[in-house]
Amino acid sequence: MRINPIGAKTNYYPTTSPKAKTLTNQNRATIPNLNHLNATYNQAAINFRGTSDASRALVRQIPLEDKLASLFENFRLGDLILVGKNLHESAKQMYKNADVVKNAIKRGFFIADETIEGNIGFIKNPIGDIEVINLNEYDIPLTSNNKTYPLKPHESFYVIEDDILSINGNLLTIKNKPKVDLSMYRKNFAKAFNFEKEADQNIEKINKKTLSQLMQPARKTATPITFAQVGGLDELKNSLKKDIIYPIRYPEAYEGVELNHGFILYGPPGTGKTHIARALANEAEANFINLNGLDLESKWVGESESNWRNLFEEAKQNQPTIIFLDEFDAVARSRDSHDIYGNKVVNQILTLMTDIDNENCDVYVIAATNNFKALDSAITRSGRFGKHYEVTPPNKEGLKEIFNINTKNRKLDENINIDELVDQLAKVNATGADVRHIVNEAHKNGMVRSGIYEKMDNKTFTNKDNELFKIAQEDFDKALNDFLVDKKSSSRKPIGFMKQQAQAG
Ligand code: ADP
Repeated sequence: MRINPIGAKTNYYPTTSPKAKTLTNQNRATIPNLNHLNATYNQAAINFRGTSDASRALVRQIPLEDKLASLFENFRLGDLILVGKNLHESAKQMYKNADVVKNAIKRGFFIADETIEGNIGFIKNPIGDIEVINLNEYDIPLTSNNKTYPLKPHESFYVIEDDILSINGNLLTIKNKPKVDLSMYRKNFAKAFNFEKEADQNIEKINKKTLSQLMQPARKTATPITFAQVGGLDELKNSLKKDIIYPIRYPEAYEGVELNHGFILYGPPGTGKTHIARALANEAEANFINLNGLDLESKWVGESESNWRNLFEEAKQNQPTIIFLDEFDAVARSRDSHDIYGNKVVNQILTLMTDIDNENCDVYVIAATNNFKALDSAITRSGRFGKHYEVTPPNKEGLKEIFNINTKNRKLDENINIDELVDQLAKVNATGADVRHIVNEAHKNGMVRSGIYEKMDNKTFTNKDNELFKIAQEDFDKALNDFLVDKKSSSRKPIGFMKQQAQAG
């Protein structure tokens, strides 16, 4: 039996030592009842200062329960005690049970004990109790107050003084204090490891991450968008519900179902691709990562692949996550473009998507583009982005819905002819973004008409002016007119459909 693992190669316990010989023959099934050894043990406690073979041999004779009790005297949250024949084996078993420990391990102690069949661990839990962890593949009966509880493999349970663990027939009594003070000799029977610095650094990292997540919802809840605020696009909403929201909400119903994790939304700008993805993340109560391909390309050049890996890693760690990749064609453009950088990125994205599929993560990637044809065929043909949805400008019904969504919190004159307005918008294939723009412009027109800006300039504006304010038909007429003129003008910054349609073709 080895006492001090640091000097494992040295034979500290010559078999010629009469005491060692006698004691190694003891039946350790009687570990708690080594009363007949007490005299020797007390004697040993007095004598084993120094490092003589004899004194080391005496350390071996200290019952395991006292060695443990001595460590328990200083036991803290973050400490782990392993007991077994061999550190490597004990650590290996503990590794398999790592999930039992709910805090960072800062200090480790290993007590080598030949007599124990198997391995056990002890931790201090956050409420201050000592917990034993069964690291074996068999039950460990734990007797407390004459009641016996079978501690199952991989289970942990708190223990108190006088509890008895029966480890493969050997009994171990839990004591809070050793028979004599062993603090001077702990290093002789327990190998100690300190991971405090490393653990603290990692805890700081994890805490910062947690805090940054806590900070996010505040931003998110400021503008929560739901499906009710997405006009039209009913088919897409229904598909996304079945493909993403329900699998996240009701995972048990999707067990064994192969889920699609990659989606491509294509269609002109302003049709609500980003808007619906935001609403989707909110409905699914998922984290939302919104990235723009053009931005990424310029920011990530050179280290792009590792950034994509980090991005997906973050998404996995915070799942459920919706990654929305706008202007996807900027990063996943066709291979015909001979852009080696782009192709490498495409391969990396496909590999990461494969991982998500294989690991069945709650990570869904929605890629959006105005130019579907420009996408690399490796992306469009692979099963990794298995679902493609065309997002077209809304029909009359959709336009009316979007109009109502955008005017919900504004005061409109009751004489406004909404149907007429919608007809005109439909004729020019207006998008949701166009409707929003027209409503905003009409609002501003109304403020000019009713002299509100003027009053603001003169500082005569009061709440009463606000209360009386309504957007009128003429405000919409002007907004629509300006919009139509703008649409015809080639110098106009594109917010509408026509220009992009030409580009896509
Ligand atoms: P895309 O991503 O397709 O370019 P966006 O989602 O960015 O378009 O649309 C811009 C804005 O237009 C949105 O923030 C939203 O206010 C409005 N919008 C577009 N489509 C819709 C829609 N279907 N329902 C409600 N609002 C919409």
